[in-house]
Parts: sequence; structure tokens; C-alpha cells
Amino acid sequence: MKIFQDAFEEGVSGDLAALEKRCRAEDVPVIRRPTQSLLRVILAARRPTAVLEIGTAIGFSSVFMCTYSDASVTTIENYAKRIPEARRTIAAFHMEDRIHLLEGDAQKILPSLTGPYDMIFMDAAKGQYPVFYKDVKRLLVPHGILVTDNILQEGEILDSRYMVERRNRTIHRRMREYLHMLMSDEDMVTTILPVGDGLSLSVKK
Ligand code: SAH
Ligand code: MG
Repeated sequence: MKIFQDAFEEGVSGDLAALEKRCRAEDVPVIRRPTQSLLRVILAARRPTAVLEIGTAIGFSSVFMCTYSDASVTTIENYAKRIPEARRTIAAFHMEDRIHLLEGDAQKILPSLTGPYDMIFMDAAKGQYPVFYKDVKRLLVPHGILVTDNILQEGEILDSRYMVERRNRTIHRRMREYLHMLMSDEDMVTTILPVGDGLSLSVKK
């Protein structure tokens, strides 16, 4: 249906569109259009003031979240090559006072943060989600929302482990472990959506 397609494909414009295009050309795994659409709804509904993002890449989703909310974004990136690029993006959008880029491994940085954040967007190394979870949960305010991207792994997460190529099995196992953690956590209410590369939405009770 056209109207359905529009909701999913209506993208960003201007400088943000140019940045998105560059990311795709350089194989930077930025949030997909359907994910953007959903994030905009979440931002409009929740109106966060403090967002934590794990996985900056070169800053597209940070700038995106600032564009569609009044939030400040704290974002973590550990890939040396991408950090200066992310800084350039933040400066180009004049968002230095709203986006705080923390350089290093989220696993090391998360325990030192105090937050709290009313929204957390997890979009980093998928195999590490279970390790991040304890801190992420601690850093979330009551009724705060946790959005985790790329949980369906191109649909592979639904396959049995024997269908999954050997080199992907560890990530497959850890992602299943993460989804299990989320779904069985009585402090959180979670749903899984086949949007983009799959994402989960969890609200802290
Ligand atoms: N959110 C971005 C895309 C992030 S891609 C956007 O949509 O625009 C995932 C990023 O997470 C990569 O740049 C990768 O280097 C980073 N990453 C992976 N594991 C990490 C870790 N443990 N700590 C910090 N960053 C990590
Ligand atoms: Mg992603």
C-alpha cells in the first residue's frame, strides 16, 4: 500500500540526507528508513531530555535524534577511525553542546556513567549486548525506554543454530541470550518488532 510505503520511506532532507547518503556510500551501518520512522514516533511520544546511545559510527543517528527532539545525546564510539569523523559531523551540525561523544569501549565506559537517561539507543557490537545490559538497565529512569537495533540479524535469529554459519554462531547465541534476558526480565516490558533489521522496545516498569 502506497501510504504504508510512504511512512517507511519518507526520509530526512537537507544536510541530514546528504550525511545519510555518505554513510551508505561508505558502508557505515546507519539506521534504516523504517527505523528512523519509528524512532521519530518514539521521540515524539517520550520527549526525552537525556538520551544515551551506544554506537555513534559517524554521528548520523545522534544528529537525527537531536533533530527530532530537544534531548541531549551522550554517545559512545570505540572505532578510532570513526571518532574524528563523528566529531566533524557534530561540528558541522553545530550540535557540540547537545551531543557528547565519549571515546572508548562501551563495556568500560558504561559502569562509570551515572545518567540517568530517559531513552537509551543500543546500536553497537551485537555480541556485547548481554554485557551492556546490567548498566543500561541501571542507567534508565523508571518508565524510560530502551531501543535495541539489529536484533533480527537479517532474519537469522529465527533460524536454528545449525542453519547459521559457524562464524556467526557466537553472535547468534549471544543475541538470543540478550533477547531472552529482556523478555524474561520482570522489571521491563518488552516487544520485538521486525522493523528495519529488527529492533526491541523495552520500558522499565
Ligand atoms: N548508530 C549509528 C550506527 C552505529 S554502527 C547510526 O545509526 O548512525 C555501530 C557502531 O558501534 C560502530 O561504529 C562500532 O565501531 C561501534 N561499536 C561497536 N562495539 C562498540 C563498543 N563496545 N563500544 C563502543 N562502540 C562500539
Ligand atoms: Mg543499527
